[in-house]
Amino acid sequence: MNSPVWHPFTQHALEPAMRRIVETGGACLIDDGGSRILDAISSWWVITHGHRHPAIMAAIQAACDRYDQIIFAEYTHEPAEELAHGLLRIAPPGLAHVFYSDSGSTCVEVALKMALGFFHNSGTPRRRICVLEHGYHGDTIGTMSAGQRGVFNAAYEPMLFGVDRLPFPHAGHEQETLDAFERFCASGDVAALLIEPLILGAGGMLIYSPDVLTALKRIAERHGTLLIADEVMTGWGRTGSVFACEQAGLAPDILCTSKGLTGGTLPLAATLCTAEIFQAHLSGDRRKTFFHSSSYTANPIACAAAVANLAVWENEPVRERIGALEAMQAERLQHFEADPRFGNVRRIGTITALDLTVQSAGYLADVGPKLRAFFRERRLLIRPLGNILYLMPPYCVTAGELDRAYDAIDEAADWFTAGRL
Ligand code: PLP
Repeated sequence: MNSPVWHPFTQHALEPAMRRIVETGGACLIDDGGSRILDAISSWWVITHGHRHPAIMAAIQAACDRYDQIIFAEYTHEPAEELAHGLLRIAPPGLAHVFYSDSGSTCVEVALKMALGFFHNSGTPRRRICVLEHGYHGDTIGTMSAGQRGVFNAAYEPMLFGVDRLPFPHAGHEQETLDAFERFCASGDVAALLIEPLILGAGGMLIYSPDVLTALKRIAERHGTLLIADEVMTGWGRTGSVFACEQAGLAPDILCTSKGLTGGTLPLAATLCTAEIFQAHLSGDRRKTFFHSSSYTANPIACAAAVANLAVWENEPVRERIGALEAMQAERLQHFEADPRFGNVRRIGTITALDLTVQSAGYLADVGPKLRAFFRERRLLIRPLGNILYLMPPYCVTAGELDRAYDAIDEAADWFTAGRL
C-alpha cells in the first residue's frame, strides 16, 4: 500500500513495507495478521512495566474525562503538581524544581538552556558544554551538537555548535577522561558536563564505572561546573536502580527524564534542577525569565499517566521484577561470554549487549539491516546498532520470551558464520 508517512531513522528506499500494528499488550506488539511480535527493545526503550499497564491506562482514561491540553503559563493543574512532588521524592537528593516538556530531546535542550541561563543570570556567563565521546542526547540541533558526530548528523554539521568532548572512560583508561575534564574545566568557561550515567545507549550500549561519574562530579564541583544527568534512557529502572545516578551516589545539578516517565504510554519529559538554578532565574528583572515553552508543556493526560506510573512503582513489586529480569538476563548472557562469534559481552541492570564479530563494524555495518530482517521474520523486534546486538525488554517479559530472543541471536550468529546473512 502506498503511504505518505515518512518514518523516523528509516531509509524508505531499502526498507520492506511497514508492518501494521493493531494492538499492544504485555511484552508484545500484535500485527494485523494476528502475529505477536516480542518487543525486545521496549519500543525504543520507552515501555517499562509492559505495554498498556492497566493502572496507567485507567488513569489515562479517567484524565480524558476531565482534561485535554491546558496552557501551562498562568495556569496549573493537579496532575502536574502531583507529579512534580512525586518526582522530587523519587529522584536523587538536591533537586527542587521540575520543568516539563515533551520528549527526551527537548528535556535535554531545556537542561542546556538552564545551565547557560544560570551563569548568564548570575553575571558570570560561561560558553562551553562538555560531553562524553559516543554520547547521544537527541535529534534537535542542540542535542545533535552535544552528541557524537557521524553519519546521522553530517548533513546538519554547518548548523551544529562546538562542544568539548571527553574520551570515553574505557576500563583502565578512566584517568584520561578525568584529566581531559579537568583541563577543559580549567578554562573557567565550562557551564556543564552533559552525560548519560553508567551507559551510553545509542552510541553503542557502552558501559562505564560509577566511580568515573563520582570523580567527574567532584571535578565539576571544584570548578563550579554543573552536572547534567541525561537519564532519558537509563531512568525508571533500566540499569537496576530507579535512576542510574543512584549507583554513583550522585546528586546531579540537573536531571533529564522522559521515555519511562509515563511507563511508555504517552510522550512527556521533565527536567529537574536544584533550587540554586531556579533562584538564578528568579528576579524582578523580566529579562531573567527562563524563556522556554512548548505548546503541549505538561499535558494533563500525560502527567496523569506519569502519576499513575509513580503509583505503580510505589504499590507493585517493580524492583523485584527488575531483579528477576536482571537474573534472567545474566543467566542467558553467560552462554555467550566465551563465544568467539561475539565480543564485548556486557550487561547493566536489565540491559544486555554483545557485539557480533564482523570485518567492518559500526552503525552502517551491512550486517545490521540483515540481522533486523532475520529477527523480524521470527517475530522479534530487535534493532541492532550496526553489529551491536542488545536487548532492553519490558519488565514483564517472561523467561520463555527471553529464550526465544536469545535462541534467535544464537541462530543469527550461526547464519552469519555460515555466510547466510
Ligand atoms: N537522551 C538519551 C540518552 C536518549 O537515549 C534519547 C533517545 O533515545 C534521547 C535523549 C532523545 O529522546 P527522544 O527520542 O524522546 O527525543
